Amino acid sequence: RPALLWFRQDLRLADNPALQAVAGRPVLPLFVWDEAAAGPWGPGGAARWWLRHSLAALAADLAARGAPLLVLRGRAEILVPAMAEAVGAAEVHAGRLHEPWARERDGRIAEALEAARRRLRLWTSAVLREPPTVMSGSGKPYAVYTPFAKAVAAMGEPDPPLPAPDRLHPVPSPPAGESLEALGLYPVAGEPDWAREFPALWQPGEAGAQDRLRRFLAGPVAGYTTGRNDPGTEGTSGLSPHLRWGEISPRQVWHAVRQAQPGDLARSWPFLSEILWREFSYHLLWHRPEMPERALRERFRTFPWQPDAALLQAWQRGRTGYPIVDAGMRQLWRFGWMHNRVRMIAASLLVKHLLQPWQAGATWFWDTLVDADLASNSASWQWIAGSGTDAAPYFRVFNPVLQGEKFDPEGRYVRRFVPALAGLPDRYVHRPWEAPEEVRRAAGLALGRDYPRPVVEHAEGRARALAALRGLRGAA
Ligand code: FAD
Repeated sequence: RPALLWFRQDLRLADNPALQAVAGRPVLPLFVWDEAAAGPWGPGGAARWWLRHSLAALAADLAARGAPLLVLRGRAEILVPAMAEAVGAAEVHAGRLHEPWARERDGRIAEALEAARRRLRLWTSAVLREPPTVMSGSGKPYAVYTPFAKAVAAMGEPDPPLPAPDRLHPVPSPPAGESLEALGLYPVAGEPDWAREFPALWQPGEAGAQDRLRRFLAGPVAGYTTGRNDPGTEGTSGLSPHLRWGEISPRQVWHAVRQAQPGDLARSWPFLSEILWREFSYHLLWHRPEMPERALRERFRTFPWQPDAALLQAWQRGRTGYPIVDAGMRQLWRFGWMHNRVRMIAASLLVKHLLQPWQAGATWFWDTLVDADLASNSASWQWIAGSGTDAAPYFRVFNPVLQGEKFDPEGRYVRRFVPALAGLPDRYVHRPWEAPEEVRRAAGLALGRDYPRPVVEHAEGRARALAALRGLRGAA
């Protein structure tokens, strides 16, 4: 009997267990743009750009294998059961999602299908191990990363990835769908095309993901341990948006890296442990579905944030006066991505020096990151804010100047994204306000006009953050 193959966040043909499960049968591949289902956590602006292009790539790949993608817009709860009925499918296959809104929706869809004697079958696709399969000795979810990572490693190598099928069999008369343009994902009519530089960096889709992986294995992987801390070079994989949309699976990445670096797992551990941070975030989101909105550590729920629209805007626009932070925020705006080290420094400045709630930062990242991922984004923000289960202690306040000097010592990254500072000598590029007037003049920099002074002085920001923490009884 025919089957429905419902693509959600696993936009690939290789290593796709749901696809493998239906490969011998007539199949209707389906994507539903269900804008309302996710509430505030529907894809943000940058992710919509990504999705638009990723769907085009998926549609082309499916058409080439003989089973074109049906694209629909509306409520999946209605459309998925209706499509199953229309083509006489007994089963709907899909990759399992971990977002709270998606789990609830899948529960309702499974019920609706069962009422019509059909089944929703969910496959492990987005993670190496499903959260309920990784539990501590006492049967509890892990709240701390290191024992979690050890437990996952102790489960052994993940199964080898599945090949992509050469051909698919379409259902005889598929229903008519929408064009991708009709979804209104991107560009949005009447809005400026702020993604115009994205294509220089990104190629959404499975082929783009494989290219990225090859590029990483051909170079950066060997020097990852140090390279990953240098935002001025391509020292990391750049796989995050591809993983986010499931254009490549963590299992494919894991095995490719193991093949490139065979032998002792320890050799690849610095990189694989990042893949496990992603897993850990999914684990947390699964067991703590409140994570995107509420502090996981209860006592942080009354933290005395001082919401301030002007400060938030200065941060969003890369005008805090701290060069490493501003370079990061401008990289984010231009390319929909920011280097991990800089994400940490920028996020820390927002929640500590500026005392803005981490949720405000997470929301901005959600809208502007091409890799915006509910699990990784909210877990990372809570980690920085000190409110996560396994978080950096709040009292550890990064000094954005010293961090800049440590990780971008020649100012290569800052010069690229904040051209107003490009002419300064290295020693002032992370502290332009300390440069003597004649040095600034020679560099063509007028502080306050071309580039702002710091919105808050470091020592003052630090003291304010620590005072706020002290005000939070029992939180230290
Ligand atoms: P690599 O260094 O090549 O790492 C390989 C993969 O491991 C990444 O693609 C990613 O899937 C995973 N990974 C790496 N670091 C982390 C981490 N700390 N937590 C979870 N997974 C990780 N990552 C997202 O994918 N989506 C987000 O929305 C997101 N928001 C973040 C917000 C903040 C405040 C911070 C500090 C980090 C956030 N990260 C997020 C984690 C990390 O910054 C990115 O995954 C990483 O920069 C992506 O670049 P890469 O693919 O080159 O990483």
